[in-house]
Amino acid sequence: MPKDFSALSGFSRRDGALYCEELNLRELAQRFGTPLYVYSHQALKTALENWMRGIAGTNHRVFYAMKANSNLALLKFFHDSGTGFDIVSRGELQRALMAGAKGNDIVYSGVGKSREDIRAALRADIGCFNVESIPELDRINEVALEEKRMAPVSVRVNPDVDAKTHPYISTGLKNNKFGVSYDQTVALYQRAATLPGIRISGIDMHIGSQITELEPFVHAADKIFDIVDALAQNGIMLDHLDFGGGLGVRYTDETPPSAETLVKAVSRKAAERGFADLPIYFEPGRSLVARAGILLTTVEYLKPTEAKNFMIVDAAMNDMVRPTLYQAQMPLVNCTQRDAANLWDVVGPVCETGDFLARSIELAAQPGDVLAMTGAGAYGMSMASNYNSRGRAAEVLVSGSPAAAKRSKISWLWKTRFLRTHLFNKQFFDVHFP
Ligand code: PLP
Repeated sequence: MPKDFSALSGFSRRDGALYCEELNLRELAQRFGTPLYVYSHQALKTALENWMRGIAGTNHRVFYAMKANSNLALLKFFHDSGTGFDIVSRGELQRALMAGAKGNDIVYSGVGKSREDIRAALRADIGCFNVESIPELDRINEVALEEKRMAPVSVRVNPDVDAKTHPYISTGLKNNKFGVSYDQTVALYQRAATLPGIRISGIDMHIGSQITELEPFVHAADKIFDIVDALAQNGIMLDHLDFGGGLGVRYTDETPPSAETLVKAVSRKAAERGFADLPIYFEPGRSLVARAGILLTTVEYLKPTEAKNFMIVDAAMNDMVRPTLYQAQMPLVNCTQRDAANLWDVVGPVCETGDFLARSIELAAQPGDVLAMTGAGAYGMSMASNYNSRGRAAEVLVSGSPAAAKRSKISWLWKTRFLRTHLFNKQFFDVHFP
């Protein structure tokens, strides 16, 4: 068991049993079936409060990057708590609106916005497009003119700063597909200033995800301030800065700075550079939700072989892809306390050798036991698929006492596994292409 299970806000072990707030996790597994994502309302609040302490007394704003987890119940929580949303697709736009957001609460990131995406965002009066290339800027201008609107834009700059994270989630190096080359940024703004459908609003960066050091953020921010200075010299004034997301969390033994520390460090740098009054947007995803969620899975079989011990569970890479995609290590804890741990590869039923949740971990478990994978609230369910025609996990948001346990809007619909798959697809199309 990871040393800090009880240090996870919203989760605890009591008399040998694991709890999410006041609910016994094993009982939740029985009631809703596994695989099951369980989120703690208290943990979401704790994570958000940390960001809010950072921005208190400033004109900065948090835009939750919903790609980390776009469950509608969570989105409603964030909207009700005053955050905006960072989106990357038309489907996410629909979800943000369904959660109650207004266009001005939304910033739109991503390298591949289609004409339809842009049109839908303009019609929703989007707060800002974060533009990532010249052809995208031109396309936004064209669609804005067709729609007889002005599109507010920021240019996403690629500051060529090493975020010191996994290469698949590093986005601010010049060989990444993201952002506009640092040296071409001022020229792009000058072009934007001549386009009749474009209103220059801010400047944007996002250098990667699961960043556990402060220094890359501050270094990248410093480089952005150089551009803001250069723009001002060219008569181009901005109404906000957007420093993206990327703050890491503790999965095992990482020691990332707190959100409050990060915000204050960046704000200090802004003040030093003479931009104390310019609002700063932050787009955190993972740091708001990762530690607020766990994935419950039931042990199906133990399969010791001469080479390895395999523990076969009912969650698979289609439910949680992070371990195989990013070599992510996420602790697995047995809801039933047992001794006599052994070394196991914990694998799912999907027909891929890469289908594993953990490799060579010490665990004591028997068939029928329910395991909890911690830190599963971010990039878990939102990256889930129906691969192997498997159904999707249900999701439960727990708030306080058993009586207040709320099923999320989506999991409410999903009675059986087959139905879950079916309805998810229907819901997906309903939501994204009404
Ligand atoms: N903003 C943008 C543009 C992103 O691409 C991402 C994630 O990749 C985020 C924000 C959120 O990052 P994180 O979940 O690491 O905070």
